[in-house]
Amino acid sequence: MNSLPPYLEQALLSQYGPYVDQITAGYSARRPTTLRVNTLKASMEGVTEALRAQGIAYQPVGWYTDAMVLPTMSESEMLSLSICTQGEVYLQGLTAMLPPLGMSFPRGCSVLDMCAAPGGKTAQIAALTQSTVSITACEKDRFRCERLRHNLKQQGVHNVTVLQTDSRHLDPAFRFDRILLDAPCSGSGTLCLQDAPRRMEQQWVQKLKSTQIHLLEKGLSLLSSGGELVYSTCSILREENEEVLQTVLPRFHAETVPLPEELTAAMPKLPVVVPNTLCVCPTPLYEGFFVAKIVKA
Ligand code: SAM
Repeated sequence: MNSLPPYLEQALLSQYGPYVDQITAGYSARRPTTLRVNTLKASMEGVTEALRAQGIAYQPVGWYTDAMVLPTMSESEMLSLSICTQGEVYLQGLTAMLPPLGMSFPRGCSVLDMCAAPGGKTAQIAALTQSTVSITACEKDRFRCERLRHNLKQQGVHNVTVLQTDSRHLDPAFRFDRILLDAPCSGSGTLCLQDAPRRMEQQWVQKLKSTQIHLLEKGLSLLSSGGELVYSTCSILREENEEVLQTVLPRFHAETVPLPEELTAAMPKLPVVVPNTLCVCPTPLYEGFFVAKIVKA
């Protein structure tokens, strides 16, 4: 088992003090494989039948009827099953399913996913809305963008315009009713101390913070008045989450609003300083994650 990278340990101690033991216990475990049933192609009943037929154990997830936990299967074992190769299910961490669930999607609204690859949340939005909204998905990395296109096709998602671009360079004349900014981050919530040590230096985190600030500024400038933007990262560092919001929101007359109570109530939480935001504590089941829902006046 590795020890915590020194910068991370110091940052967590100063931000979370007494919670560090709980966070470290979460980092020490190997989390089970989890999946989302792709309701564009399959039903929960069909998927559970397929799992039962192969003797694969599964557990439901109380706060999301499309999700399940597979306590005995590794991701690579799952990936070879036809329910995966046919796009009937998508392997996705439980906390990574939160951002689309935190959003509302009125029929016909325009949705922008600013940082989309490999596409788990884009496809989840398409499934949640049963393709009744128009989605634009941006990804700046060419190879990851190819992966995004492949995954969307595999999952039968057809109502998405994929743009291989830096979303900070989108035309300022565009407007979207709903925006998901699942920002690039240090991944400090997803550490597993059983794996090879990960990079985690202050300078790098500061650079990420600057990118996150620019992305959020761009997102809010593209958001329609009264529109909703969800900001998320798989980091639990305040620099990448609440400090980004504290820097940007006042400039846009934007504010955080509550996430659905049934989601926040179910999560193991770390303390937050910005009201209405959710920081999920890493546990043996959940990866650490941050979500904020923002509206622009
Ligand atoms: N939302 C994705 C999902 O659910 O599968 C995961 C997104 S991952 C956290 C962040 C992604 O943003 C990476 O694929 C990265 O290449 C991309 N990215 C980083 N900076 C970007 C930018 N300025 N414009 C567009 N994409 C960007």
